Amino acid sequence: MNEMRSVYFDNNATTPLYPEVLEAMLPYYKEAFGNASSAHRAGRTVKAKISESREIVANALGASPSEIYFTSGGTEANNLAIKGRAWAGRKASGSGIITSTIEHPAVLEVAKYLSKNGYEISKAGVGPDAIVDIDAIGEAINDNTILISVMHANNEVGTIQPVKVIAALGKEKGITIHTDAVQSFCKIPLNVDDLGVDLLSVSGHKINGPKGTGVLYIRKGTKMHPLAHGGHHEGGMRAGTENVAGIVGFTKAVEIGIESMEKNYQYVKTLRDDLEQRILSAIPNTILNGHREKRLPGTVNISFECVEGEALLINLDMMGIAISTGSACSSGSLDPSHVLMAMGIPHETIHGSLRFSIGHGNTKDEVDYVMTHLPRVITMLRDISPLWDSREGRAISLEEAEKGARTI
Ligand code: PLP
Repeated sequence: MNEMRSVYFDNNATTPLYPEVLEAMLPYYKEAFGNASSAHRAGRTVKAKISESREIVANALGASPSEIYFTSGGTEANNLAIKGRAWAGRKASGSGIITSTIEHPAVLEVAKYLSKNGYEISKAGVGPDAIVDIDAIGEAINDNTILISVMHANNEVGTIQPVKVIAALGKEKGITIHTDAVQSFCKIPLNVDDLGVDLLSVSGHKINGPKGTGVLYIRKGTKMHPLAHGGHHEGGMRAGTENVAGIVGFTKAVEIGIESMEKNYQYVKTLRDDLEQRILSAIPNTILNGHREKRLPGTVNISFECVEGEALLINLDMMGIAISTGSACSSGSLDPSHVLMAMGIPHETIHGSLRFSIGHGNTKDEVDYVMTHLPRVITMLRDISPLWDSREGRAISLEEAEKGARTI
């Protein structure tokens, strides 16, 4: 029997480590194990390496090294950005924060926490194309607004948001602007001045770097409180002995990612477009979710009518294909994706939605492999769906199904 293949099309969830990243990290677990706060040579060596890393990351974002704060990932960066700014800007009458309905839970849960603690939270909706409603942001701004947080690119559908326009709206009123750029970093150009943001979050494991690493960019002069108190690490903004190997690995991934961004963009987009076109033309009753053009190069989210996404995921997993669905398996229940819901997609369609996220390590051969299995699996699952008429090859309404359209 052939060894089962492994096709990983879930690069928005996480990515494999670049071998060069691991190589760069190893010395900082072995001989260069010093604490950057120590005055002796072992400490000074790693301190210098952290400074060098800060400079490289700053260059990648168009920032100054003193504006780069290493964190334990995207979640911490978002928490520090939003809580840190909220706590520093609290007004007697309650401060306002504006965000969107399609943010990652690392923003939405922070907003929920703050709303329970006296902050006014407004969430701008999105259109069917998953683009945030700029007018809704404009209308939500008032004298109490201290922060607007809108993601740069969405993790589920890949839609790129008009952050620059939103930032310009807020800046007029002196409002701090945050963007979660975890999914777009090293995939599309990113520059803090060009976007006009004051706070920007990125994560290491989405860019072929180590898990548990990330950065928050904080524009000089932004009023912030720290989350963790302790030593004077990271300019007093993030206490705790630095994860030196993680910082070094993160930085190596940034260097490689920035250098190969253009090449990877074209390569990944070609694979994605090929997969997308073949799915849409080979499988009937499929819908592409999110904006067609304003999108990350490797992300495609498609709804397959009359198919249960979880069953699809399990069947593809048995073929060695890793993808994710439009349902988030949280606390034992299958909640439909809040992103697809915000886009106005009906529940039953959301449950048949898949996200394929392609990375630069994927190949055309892997797309071919997926296309040899996916249409067959869909047909099999539709054949057992009461809402699918296999003879006519079409979806049927609940009423039709109840009238016995499928009576054998
Ligand atoms: N923000 C977005 C848009 C993400 O996709 C993710 C990860 O899925 C995060 C934040 C959280 O990042 P991390 O896993 O580094 O905490």
